[in-house]
Amino acid sequence: MKIHEYQGKELLKKFGVVVPRGVFCQSADDAVKAAESLGGKVWVVKAQIHAGGRGKGGGVKVAKSLDEVRQYANQILGMQLVTHQTGPEGQKVRRLLIEEGADIKKEYYVAALTDRASQKVAMMASSEGGMNIEEVAHSTPEKILTVYIDPADGLSDAQATQLATGIGVPAASVAKAVAALKGLYACYMETDASLAEINPLILEGNGDIKALDAKFNFDSNALYRIPDIVAYRDLDEEDPNEIEASEFGLAYISLDGNIGCLVNGAGLAMATMDTIKLFGAEPANFLDVGGGATTEKVTEAFKIMLKNSKVKGILVNIFGGIMKCDTIANGVVSAVRETHLTVPLVVRMKGTNEELGKQILKDSGLPIISADSMAEAATKIVAAIK
Ligand code: GDP
Ligand code: MN
Repeated sequence: MKIHEYQGKELLKKFGVVVPRGVFCQSADDAVKAAESLGGKVWVVKAQIHAGGRGKGGGVKVAKSLDEVRQYANQILGMQLVTHQTGPEGQKVRRLLIEEGADIKKEYYVAALTDRASQKVAMMASSEGGMNIEEVAHSTPEKILTVYIDPADGLSDAQATQLATGIGVPAASVAKAVAALKGLYACYMETDASLAEINPLILEGNGDIKALDAKFNFDSNALYRIPDIVAYRDLDEEDPNEIEASEFGLAYISLDGNIGCLVNGAGLAMATMDTIKLFGAEPANFLDVGGGATTEKVTEAFKIMLKNSKVKGILVNIFGGIMKCDTIANGVVSAVRETHLTVPLVVRMKGTNEELGKQILKDSGLPIISADSMAEAATKIVAAIK
């Protein structure tokens, strides 16, 4: 799960990281009022969407008068903001953050993330923060410093100092940068985040260190432990099909291809997507119906897959273990009838009650293509959509 920048800054502030004063708003009138209440002569109008790259996409504007605040707020609110993280269709802007302007002397990058390989927390920092960090990571990876932190020990002063001096924070501001890094680490740990990133973390003319942006990711499987964070969830930013699927206990993720896949078990679902790719096509989604799929659940799964207009064919791949093949077969038959399926459907099932399941499909009289192996199933669906 992701949250907005203004929410991330609320969290960082609780852990002692200095952030600019700012006000969250949803209309141009409120944006002007916010700027008035903040005072000063320069404000930043920032689109709040769950994607980075807003600056380059025109979603971050520096205003030098209240009129400009209004103008930019009107311009940004309601726009389809396209960034390298949104995809070509962009994301509609419904929320704004109005902040006091910052006096930027230098932009750094800092982040805390879960490093599975070392089973530690990786704290990363770079002197090259700002809007081109992806490019830095790609062409000059040596400019990104990393320290690994054993969660049992926590981030030491020595490690934080090593990062701060390593990225060139001037001596007079190192203590402030260390405090920001320690605050970031504490925030990452306490909120159970999988990523907490500040880009840019800035050095101001007066030597202050401030977080100008905040990005967090949380493992959706851990949300039950962090109700305060779940309260930040913004369903407007999530794929409606994925939300609907989660209501039915289906793990569904939209992808770009044209073959819908319905599978039980995440591992088998991944293998099925790989097999589709191996045979020259692309999956339209990841869909795991789980171990206890009922007829209703399978029907919902079909409906959700078919909402994607790119779907030109469906591949069902089931391993009947606890879930029996005949149960799935009944579900598939009723789903095909209920959704008046018009695209080709290939079903491969193996395991408990396999013969019974195949018989149910056959007896249905529906044009369901049956397959024995994964390779055969993939070959057949790829051929059927051509
Ligand atoms: P992102 O593009 O989605 O990562 O959005 P950011 O919040 O990082 O903003 C993009 C860029 O806008 C930053 O790297 C800064 O250069 C600039 N920016 C953000 N806030 C301010 C500010 O208060 N004053 C000035 N002058 N620039 C800012
Ligand atoms: Mn940023």
